[in-house]
Amino acid sequence: MEERIKIQVETISGNPTSGEIMITKLSKNQRMKTAFKKLFFFGGIAIFSVFLPVLHFFLVPLFLILGIVFGVKSYRVDSCLVSGNGSCPHCKEGINFKSNDLVWPILVKCHKCSRDLNISMATYN
Ligand SMILES: [Zn+2]
Repeated sequence: MEERIKIQVETISGNPTSGEIMITKLSKNQRMKTAFKKLFFFGGIAIFSVFLPVLHFFLVPLFLILGIVFGVKSYRVDSCLVSGNGSCPHCKEGINFKSNDLVWPILVKCHKCSRDLNISMATYN
């Protein structure tokens, strides 16, 4: 299910600008599927690491722990950023949003002036 959300783009300098992003809510099954993909990916690397002499003593536990950490982390992400529009408060250049997991605040870099942009949900006063 897609949903539009009003955003506010801020930098250290310049007045905040507004924009809009489109997000997709992920179902519990989709989140579980993504979590298991990451768990099995790192589990596969851990199995491969068993055959590396000496290194397997720390690589196997490392990749098993990474699989659990990234699996749990991706299960907690409940929506994805699909697309969006907005402009840099400093140079007014449009922002390119990449399709990605949605974690607030969204941090992007302006490709024209290289300033860090902090994108948050718009608040209405
Ligand atoms: Zn800019």
